[in-house]
Amino acid sequence: MQQGTAPLTGWPAFNTMRACYQCAKCTSGCPVATLDPEYNPRRFLRLAAIGEKEAVLKDEKLWYCLACFTCQERCPEEARPAEVLLALKNLACERGFAPEALLAAARLVAADGRLYNIDEFHNEYREDEGLPALDEETGILGKLLALTSLQGRLEG
Ligand code: SF4
Ligand code: SF4
Repeated sequence: MQQGTAPLTGWPAFNTMRACYQCAKCTSGCPVATLDPEYNPRRFLRLAAIGEKEAVLKDEKLWYCLACFTCQERCPEEARPAEVLLALKNLACERGFAPEALLAAARLVAADGRLYNIDEFHNEYREDEGLPALDEETGILGKLLALTSLQGRLEG
């Protein structure tokens, strides 16, 4: 077993990467790579495949991926690079490598179903803008997430 690759082999998408021949069609169609030439999903996939997963998990650029799936649609080998990147982000989160700002936002959503609390001030602003008032209680998403283990996992 290659060092560091074991957890990914449980993801069916990772096995599709065996067909990858590094043609780079994924990277050349990636909207993030268009804006940031240093962002290279093909390189992440290659590093993970050869056992350099830790380096990928610690790279903050892993979080630049928008999960738009363009790379996956362009792949001539029907590999599933976008799903592998999602798996890598999940692993990075489990290992404590996720950016703190992202974790803070995820904790808010997990607790309340929203990125910020709705209070009287927000609803007065909404009224001024002609928008309907929002319920100040925890939203339905927060109630659903409270039934999962997400909050505990985010607390580490
Ligand atoms: S497009 Fe597919 S085959 Fe080409 S480098 Fe990306 S994942 Fe590999
Ligand atoms: S899913 Fe991520 S890596 Fe793939 S094209 Fe979209 S932004 Fe780029």
